[in-house]
Amino acid sequence: MAQLSEFLAVLEAALPADALLTDTADLRTYECDGLTGRRVVPAAVCLPESTEEVQAVVRACAAHRVPFVARGAGTGLSGGALPVAEGVVISLARMNRVLDVDLYSQRITVQPGVTNLQVTEAVAAHHLYYAPDPSSQQVCTIGGNVAENSGGAHCLKYGFTVNHVTGLTVVLPDGERIALGGASLESPGPDVIGVFVGSEGTLGIATEITLRLLPRPAAVVTQLAAFDSTDEAGAAVSAIVAARILPSAMEIMDRLTIEAAEAAVNAGYPEDSGAILIVELDGVAAQVEEDLAALDRICREHGAWEIRTAADAAERALLWKGRKSAFGAMGRVSQSYYVQDGVVPRTKLPQVLRRIAELEQEYGLRVGNVFHAGDGNLHPLVLYDEHVAGESERARELADAILVACIDAGGSLTGEHGIGTDKACAMPLMFGRDDLDVMQRLRRAFDPAGLANPGKLFPTPRLCGEVPGPYRQHPLERAGLAERL
Ligand SMILES: Cc1cc2nc3c(=O)[nH]c(=O)nc-3n(C[C@H](O)[C@H](O)[C@H](O)COP(=O)(O)OP(=O)(O)OC[C@H]3O[C@@H](n4cnc5c(N)ncnc54)[C@H](O)[C@@H]3O)c2cc1C
Repeated sequence: MAQLSEFLAVLEAALPADALLTDTADLRTYECDGLTGRRVVPAAVCLPESTEEVQAVVRACAAHRVPFVARGAGTGLSGGALPVAEGVVISLARMNRVLDVDLYSQRITVQPGVTNLQVTEAVAAHHLYYAPDPSSQQVCTIGGNVAENSGGAHCLKYGFTVNHVTGLTVVLPDGERIALGGASLESPGPDVIGVFVGSEGTLGIATEITLRLLPRPAAVVTQLAAFDSTDEAGAAVSAIVAARILPSAMEIMDRLTIEAAEAAVNAGYPEDSGAILIVELDGVAAQVEEDLAALDRICREHGAWEIRTAADAAERALLWKGRKSAFGAMGRVSQSYYVQDGVVPRTKLPQVLRRIAELEQEYGLRVGNVFHAGDGNLHPLVLYDEHVAGESERARELADAILVACIDAGGSLTGEHGIGTDKACAMPLMFGRDDLDVMQRLRRAFDPAGLANPGKLFPTPRLCGEVPGPYRQHPLERAGLAERL
């Protein structure tokens, strides 16, 4: 206790008056992120406003060997910002300033607490925008996007966050400040920005981020096609790609998700359809027009019985509003739901969707499907009632079985929501011991003391139950590469 009060006194001295929270009621605000089933109240929360203040907090953590967890808006769905009980949450919410806009180079430099949408808003008057667009873009922060390598509907054509970050200022876990990259797309040497983006807060804290901006395309068209089944809609997606059309987005929603979205935002989706496909084309007007004609033909050939092209920007926004509200809308049809995030090769979409339908029957639970079809990135929403005994456990098992189906189909554990605490134990489904060893070694190069967001991303032997029976030391621990938490 004496040590904790000494540590808190150091933090108090390093931060402005209202930037250190230790009252339990205040701390509870930070006890979870979007994965609300897991909650831990931290020892303290710091709200720094500058890189120097972040450095001061991280240095104090290093000196007292206190773990720390960076936090943006807390919208993460994999428990990445879940606190450590004896640790500190470093909230970047007050670091929310745009630092520089370079129109000539089409770059913007922001603090990590700026939201995704604010980046586009800051340059909209210049007909520029920031391409990666998570559905949570109104609230999620650029710092969180960088840590999770976030995606969004338009990443099909424009790439994920990692393709848009050109420079970073990072506070390493010992408090040192480093600069990576700058305004140019390429820098010599290993791609350390590529290593940091997607590292889920385990390598340090990003305090300044330079991003690429893109010119607004001359023409944009959004089309909705209604099908009887996700099989037909999925086959249309494969045919669109085979026809060498590259839409900026291709999203599928199934009947249950359409029902929920309609109840929440009344987007005008045909409610009697088994699936809808939303496709957006952008670019030069003549090319968009040509692709639109081909798109129309392909969708009809694959069973589309209603095709609607948004007449104007307002109708386009409404079509997207339904899709982007889909997760939240599920609250209309179910007490609780778990959002799974897995990837399959695009051609395996129908096979995996059929497996999900089988699993619904096996587990007696409903699953809504909404997904980035062009990327093969599924987001099954497993519905359950937490007040019914055993149902949340069954939902969890069903969600895990979906992940296994994705891996069996040659896919991946996550498309964009990250591993966090949620899927750390699933990492061995995809990676062998040698792979995990290499990842741990890389992490230790940045964070030898293991203080930055411990317990995330990597399986820990005890918590993942890899070794049944009494606890025995895992080979990774014996080698000093993993810690028991
Ligand atoms: C309704 C809804 C829709 C969503 N849709 C999408 C989607 O379409 N695509 C998508 O990719 N995700 C989506 N998400 C997930 C989530 O919004 C993203 O993962 C987002 O990037 C998290 O940002 P955040 O600011 O909330 O980060 P947090 O949840 O606060 O943190 C996420 C991770 O980032 C780390 N972190 C935060 N800031 C920093 C920093 N400055 N430096 C280092 N590490 C840091 C944290 O430690 C944690 O590990 C959705 C979530 C919700 C609730």
